[in-house]
Amino acid sequence: MERIKVAFSGLKNKEYDFSFNIGDKFFEHYPALAIQKGDLTLNAHLDKRENALYFTLIINGNVYLQCDRCLDFFKYQLDFDKLLYIKRSESVQEIVEESDDVLLLPSDWHEIDLTQYVYEFIMLELPIKRVHEMGVGEDIACNNNIMEILKNQNQSVENGKEEIDPRWEALKKLKDKI
Ligand SMILES: [Zn+2]
Repeated sequence: MERIKVAFSGLKNKEYDFSFNIGDKFFEHYPALAIQKGDLTLNAHLDKRENALYFTLIINGNVYLQCDRCLDFFKYQLDFDKLLYIKRSESVQEIVEESDDVLLLPSDWHEIDLTQYVYEFIMLELPIKRVHEMGVGEDIACNNNIMEILKNQNQSVENGKEEIDPRWEALKKLKDKI
């Protein structure tokens, strides 16, 4: 995975925009996100000052999450922005988090690695309960075929049958393809 870095040492004190693509390699690197696939754009707007960096991180695009109810995947749109302030420090030898969004950098640093912050910001934007959205007049918008298989599977378990429903194999193949 390519890390999301901004080299700022050669920059003048003015505003800049950097663009990054956040794709499947990023999500593979952070399995805790539980995102199967995704395609996000990060626009990092930098206001560079003499002793501080003011970032506005704008993230938008789609990711695919697994539905807790039917186990099928659904598209989830992300569209948010976060502020990140980085202050220059003459004495601090390591990054110290002063608060959630303020960092201190040692004065000899010349670039900032935003990867971990982008990860944390995305994590905060993901829904706690991951289910298909309900449509108007619908009970649920889940994948009915999969729901049916799950229902039958549950019944098989309840009836004490141990053999695996062959449709599970089809379901697994379907999941692997997504
Ligand atoms: Zn669902």
